[in-house]
Amino acid sequence: MKHVFHAALLAIAICASLVGCAKKDDSKTTQLVMATEATFPPYEFREGDKIVGIDVDIAGAIAKELGRELVVEDTKFDSVIPAVQAGKADLAASGITITEDRKKTINFTIPYVEAAQVILVPAGSEVKSTADLKGKRIGVQSGTTGDTYVAENVGEPDRFDNPAVAVAALKSGKVDVVVCDKDPARVFATKDAALQILDEPLTKEEYAIAISKANPELLAAANVVIQRLKDSGELARIVASYEKPADAAAE
Ligand code: GLN
Repeated sequence: MKHVFHAALLAIAICASLVGCAKKDDSKTTQLVMATEATFPPYEFREGDKIVGIDVDIAGAIAKELGRELVVEDTKFDSVIPAVQAGKADLAASGITITEDRKKTINFTIPYVEAAQVILVPAGSEVKSTADLKGKRIGVQSGTTGDTYVAENVGEPDRFDNPAVAVAALKSGKVDVVVCDKDPARVFATKDAALQILDEPLTKEEYAIAISKANPELLAAANVVIQRLKDSGELARIVASYEKPADAAAE
């Protein structure tokens, strides 16, 4: 009788621990959560109800290496790094530029692409170069390096939630120019003949993935994967695969 009682207790204990484990560790070990702002083609944008793009493919390769399922969470750009800091996401991949300021609060992987801020204008605009920006209404995406550049070098910009909304404001004449990252600017300008990018870039930047300082293991694993994607030519193939369907990317 005693044995039966012990066996029952043991069975209950095992069940409880299994349920506990499944609940506690399940998503941590089976999912890799990526925070992003998904109106930034070709790095992240919506295709139907799916979020796709270069960053999604890179994060997908990291998830595959770890044997986890990639889950993409769409949020505002100025929330992607805080989401990682708060443990709501494992990493932020959102065309994020490495900056000294951001490095104080988050770790960056090795860079995976070179970027720049550029000036987007309506065709025929009187703004022809950086020197013409003074006194103009400048649209930026809030919390970006474009926002910082304009605030520090020209004056207070008009801040928008995402680059698509900033471009809509440019089209409707609410702002005179938009300062944003060169690759999304190229997608917007390719799709719309009424938009032009000025030749002279404002900054020289590099994108990397942001990972919590509390998660050096994930940082190391992500760096291995990114280096491998670079060395094998796979990263170049991923980037090239988003160059052709410019129309789709700009939807
Ligand atoms: N590269 C810019 C930054 O890091 C903008 C990124 C974005 O808008 N997704 O601030």
